[in-house]
Formats: sequence, structure tokens, C-alpha cells
Amino acid sequence: MEKKERLANTHLLLLLPAGILAASWAIYGFPYSRFGVELIALAVITVFFSSYFRIQLPRTKIHVTISDAMIMLSLLIYGGEFAVIVSILETAYTSFSLRRKGLSISFKTALINVFTGAIAVFATTQIVLMTFGSPVAVFENGDKAALFWLLAVMCAAWFLVDSIIVSAVVATRCGKSVMSVWNDNCVNALVIYISGAALAGLAAMALKQVNVILFVTVAGFFALIYMIYRRYVDDIKQTSEKAENSERQRAEQAENYVMELEHYVSQLEATGRELKQSREKFRHAAYHDALTGLPNRNYFIDTLQGLLDKAKTDSTCKFAVLFLDLNRFRTINDSLGHSTGDRLIRHVAKRLSEMTGEGDLVGHFGGDEFAFILTEAAEIETATHFADRVAKRIAESFRFNGRQVFTTVSVGIAFGSQDYQKSEDVLRDADIAMYYAKDNEENYVIFDKTMHTRAVSLQQLETDLRYAIVSDELELFYQPIVELNTVSLSGFEALVRWNHPTRGLIAPNEFISVSEDSGLVIPMTLQILRTACTQMVEWQNRSADNRSLSISVNLSGKHFSQPDLVGQVMTIVSETKINPNCLKLEITESVVMENAENAIFMLKQIRDIGVRLSVDDFGTGYSSLSYLHRFPIDTLKIDRSFVSSMTDGDGENAEIVHTIIALARALKLSVVAEGIETVEQLDQLRTLGCEFGQGYLLSRPVPVAQIEKLLDDKSLWDNLTASAAHAAAVHNYDPSQLGISH
Ligand code: C2E
Ligand code: MG
Ligand code: MG
Repeated sequence: MEKKERLANTHLLLLLPAGILAASWAIYGFPYSRFGVELIALAVITVFFSSYFRIQLPRTKIHVTISDAMIMLSLLIYGGEFAVIVSILETAYTSFSLRRKGLSISFKTALINVFTGAIAVFATTQIVLMTFGSPVAVFENGDKAALFWLLAVMCAAWFLVDSIIVSAVVATRCGKSVMSVWNDNCVNALVIYISGAALAGLAAMALKQVNVILFVTVAGFFALIYMIYRRYVDDIKQTSEKAENSERQRAEQAENYVMELEHYVSQLEATGRELKQSREKFRHAAYHDALTGLPNRNYFIDTLQGLLDKAKTDSTCKFAVLFLDLNRFRTINDSLGHSTGDRLIRHVAKRLSEMTGEGDLVGHFGGDEFAFILTEAAEIETATHFADRVAKRIAESFRFNGRQVFTTVSVGIAFGSQDYQKSEDVLRDADIAMYYAKDNEENYVIFDKTMHTRAVSLQQLETDLRYAIVSDELELFYQPIVELNTVSLSGFEALVRWNHPTRGLIAPNEFISVSEDSGLVIPMTLQILRTACTQMVEWQNRSADNRSLSISVNLSGKHFSQPDLVGQVMTIVSETKINPNCLKLEITESVVMENAENAIFMLKQIRDIGVRLSVDDFGTGYSSLSYLHRFPIDTLKIDRSFVSSMTDGDGENAEIVHTIIALARALKLSVVAEGIETVEQLDQLRTLGCEFGQGYLLSRPVPVAQIEKLLDDKSLWDNLTASAAHAAAVHNYDPSQLGISH
């Protein structure tokens, strides 16, 4: 049970005996003999209407009702018993109507109020009886002084009893002392009793002096005025309540708006923060490389531009830019896999970062390219010393999963100067110098202006070559390959030339590497292959004697590593309808050996379509015998350098040629000797048992028309070979007399 409930029960229990006593006494002594209209009217007015006539004292919470006055009047006119009954009914009815209006008055509280009222009236009556005798007699007597004192005592007694009981009840509820509650709440209420007594006194006197009808009429008139006044006050109250309510609603609405606004503002702030964060993320991503976390090209270029701008006004601002590129990174990537390649790049980045001094910058441009800005490296020695240190540090082994990986680096160095306007230009020059370092297998190279000129001309060459491919400026020359014993024609090697519109005929060595670097080598080779095959088919169709002739086409290492090479060859073979056995693809020894396992895989596929394979420039690379016998190849072409020096000095090169021939024989491969220029070389090769050869002695590479002459007029070939054979004897052969020299 709640504490409040328990207290209410205790209060009820304590008040119950006195309350029952008062009620019993009242019922017993009720003036039944005086029962009539007047008594009923007084009771009804007191019980049902008196509490309605209520005035709140200004600036207090005290409501003066006429109910107290009416009960006092009842006491004067009909005695205490009637007053107790009226008090009980009035309190009960008031509690009931307040509950109906929504006030939370519990039944027990209402009962406590009823008992308190009854006990107060009972006690007051007893005190009045003891001091004045019957109050009805005093009233009837009409003595004003007696009536005054009676009312004074009545008022005091009633106030004391009522206020003490109320204070005790409230004090126990709030846990305060009775005295303090009495002081705080009840003293002010004295005015209720005084005014009640005064009102009762006035009413009693009026009743005594005027007749009842007049009294009731006057009282009714005043009641009416009062009611109008109450209505007016209620109206004003309602209006002000309404105004207050709408004011409150407006305030609440405003508060809601403020809250919504605050919420919106905080949402905006959060969005702003998120935006800022994502902007920072994007900014970081835009300026940093994802793999290494190092500044990227954009960041590097911006920083470099800042330094260049500063250098324009500040002559002390000097710096060096180092461009770095790993050597053979592609091979590492292809052979060890891309994840190892990525790890290597990350570790290189780490080493480079560790070497970066304060105020310097290292950036990663993607792939295997890095760059430095050295702000303290105005002197050549400082920059080269740093480049050396970098090269040494990178050359130290890297260890991944218990496996050692090695790489080296080429560095190009360019110095910032006032000549530069744009940061890209400094980077470009460092890049050019890096390529020189790579080509010359140096750790570093410092940029000079001639390099730029060369780079520009190479760039021009690339542009021209791109155009040359589409506008048919490439022409094929064919060099006969001869069966040395019988000196009969075995086939041709197709060798490309570029009919440059302004520079004339350009040799392949001048543009093959440009074509490889730019990737143009692939469309170029496909064009050459198609032309050579078409040409061969045409020659073969001219005469039955030509059917066994073969055509050799050179294949670049760049093209050889393309996975779709086989498909491209197949397409051309089927398009040109060449017998694949009559087509030979030449791949240089170094290309085949560089990535032997891949090469075997690729060569097998080419062989599977019937196309034959030659290893070009054999002897210049480092062929591993263990691989050589696994390569599905047909021919070894002995490099010209061995053939040309075969007849010189100690015969060491002749020995090499001899060994190559023996090796070819053991591996069941045919041999072609390149670059036969002299009759001695021809003789010696024959003696060594070399099957095939090509060289200026027999024929230079010549245009189609001259080959056609040769094919059409067999006597020309016989003359040529006879001359060669004769020249072997007399040593005065001149191939130009046949008009096929180049
Ligand atoms: P290669 O495949 O070893 O071609 C033989 C080179 O030796 C040719 O040079 C040829 O003209 C030259 N030669 C032949 N006999 C003699 C001789 O008795 N004395 C001298 N000094 N040289 C002789 P060329 O035509 O200048 O070609 C050079 C290289 O360019 C070729 O070497 C080949 O690697 C490459 N090349 C030529 N044409 C093509 C092509 O169509 N595609 C590709 N990828 N490379 C080609
Ligand atoms: Mg060749
Ligand atoms: Mg060769």
C-alpha cells in the first residue's frame, strides 16, 4: 500500500470517533419540530449553492465562500445540530462536485473533509453552549452586543478547531511540523472565518429586522448581481485563459520551431563535417598514390611548380629533380606475379621515404616510376652522390616469403633553373636522362640539352612512323637465303625499310626501337607479315620451282610477349593462304631466353599451326643448353659477327661457328649463316658443313622487282652462283654487276 493511502487511513481512523459522535449528536438533536420551507430553503441554499458564491481575495489563494457564513447562520437560527448536518452535506456535495469537475479528490480525502467540518461545527457549538447557552436564544433575543460576542467566540472556536485538524492532517502528509503548516497556510484563512462570521451576523440582523420575504428578495437581488459579476469575471478569465493558451501554444510552437531549427542546424553541421571529411579524403586520394601512400604525380608537379615560381624571384632557391625507374620490373611482375610486384614497389617506396631528407619530397608516379625533389642539392656532386646512394640501397636484396628479390634502378637528374617555366618540363628532362641511364646501364645520368633534342627527334620519328604505317611508306626488301652446297635458292628474309618522304630510305635499326617503345611495332609487324606472306604466295604461284621457297619474317620481342600473337599469325596464314611450313618467324636469342618458360609455351603454339621458327642472331645471347633442347625451333641463325670474323686471326670465331653447327646438328636443327660477305667465308662455311647462308656475297636485301627478275630468269641466279663459285677461286666477285646490290 502506498504511504499516502496509509496516512489517509490513519487520519480517517483518528477522526472517525469524533465525526460519528458529532453526526450522532446532530441527528439526535435535530430540530425536527421546526422543519418547514424556511429550514429546507436554508439547507438547500447552503448545501448546493453557497460554495458557488466564492470570491478570491486579491493577491492571495484564499477563496471566501458564503458557505461558512451560511453554516454559522444555520447555527444561529436552528442550532448546532442543524448546522452539523448542513456542514456534512455541504462538504460532501462540494467534494462531489469538485471531483466531477476533474479535481483529484479521493473518497477518503472527501470523508476526512466531511468529518473535519462536522467536528469543527460540533466543537464550536459546544463552546458556544458553554459560554452563551443556546445560540438560537441569543439570536431570537436580538441583543446586538450579545450577538457580536457570540459570533466572535464562534468564529475563534471554529477557526481554531478547523485549522488545528487541517494543519495536523497536512503536516503528517508533508512531513512538516503542525505549527509551521498552521503558520504557513491557516493563519491567513482566519479572514474566511471572520468574514463568514460578519456575513452571518449581518444576515442574522437583517432577518431579525426585516421580514423573511424582503430579506430573500434583497438577497436574491444581490445573488443575481453577484452571479452577473461572476459570469463577467469568468468570461474575462476564460478570455484571458484563451489568450494565455494561445500565447502558450505560440510559445510552444516557437519552441518547437527553435528545436527543429536546432536539429536542422546540427544536421547541417554534421553534413558539413562529413562533407569536410570526404573532401579531405578525396583531396588525399587526389594527391596520393593508393599503393604506396606517397605523393602522386599531381602533388609532385604542384610542389615543383611552387619551387620554380619561387626560383624566379629568389636566386638562392636551387633544387634537383631525380626521376627513378626500376630496371626489369616487368620481368619481375611477369615471373613472380603482380602481388609480388606490388610488394616490391611498396618496399622500394619505404626505402626511398627513409632516405628523404627534411624539405625534400619523394613521389610515386605509378608503375615502377618514382621521383625526388632535393631542395639542398644545387651542386652536381650532392645530387649524384644521392643518386648513387639510392641505386645502392635499391640494389640490396628484398625478401618476400623467404624468397630474395633483386632489382636495380636507373636515375635521371635535372636541375631546377630559371630557364624552366613549367614543372612538367623539369620532369620531362629528368625522365629523358633516366632513359639514357637505362640505355647505357648507368646508375644515373645528368640531363643535358642534346638529350632533349634527340628525344624530340625520336618523338618526331614516332609521329612520322605512325603515319608511315597507315600510308604505306614501309617497304619490304628481300634477301635470298641460299642452300650453300648446291648454291640453290632456299627462300628469303623479309627486311623492312621506310621510304621516308623527306629523309629517303631509312634502315630498320633506326626505327625498330622507336616502334617497340611506342607499341607501333605490333601493327607494323602485322602489316609486314601480311605483305611478306602475300608476296611469297604470289611468287610460289609463278612457277612450280618456287613452291618450296620459304619466307622468313622478323618478330620483335615486344610482339612475342603478346598473348594474342598466335591468333594474329593464324589469321594472316589463313587470309594469305600461305603454306604455314613455308613461313618462318625469326626471334632473337635474347628474347627467347629472357623468359624461357613463357617462350616455350608461345613457340609451341606457333609450331602447332605449322609455322616454323628460327632463333636469330644466335651466339650473341646466353643460350642455356638445357632450355635450347626444349625449344620447339627449326633453325639457328649464326650471328653475322661470328661469320665476319671467322677467317681472321686465331680462328677462334671459326671454332664458335663450328660448335654452333655441331650443336644444331645434334639438336636436329638447320643452320643459316648470316652476313656472308667473302668467298673465304662461303668456302669455310661449306667446309664446316653449314647448310644455309645469306649475305652480301650472294645478294643484298633487294626490292621486290629485283627478286622477281631473279625468279623469272633462272640464268641470272645460275650466273650469280657460278660467279660466286668462281669468285671463290679468283676472289674478285662483285654482286653489283647483277644490279641487285643495295
Ligand atoms: P636481322 O634479322 O639479323 O637481319 C639481318 C641483317 O643483316 C639485315 O639488316 C641485313 O641487311 C644485314 N645483312 C645481311 N647480309 C649482310 C652482309 O653480308 N653484311 C652486312 N653487313 N649485313 C648483312 P637490316 O635489314 O638493316 O636489318 C637489321 C635488323 O633489323 C634485322 O636484323 C632485324 O633484327 C631488324 N629488322 C629488319 N626488318 C625487320 C622487320 O621487318 N621486323 C622486325 N621486327 N625487325 C626487323
Ligand atoms: Mg632476321
Ligand atoms: Mg640476324
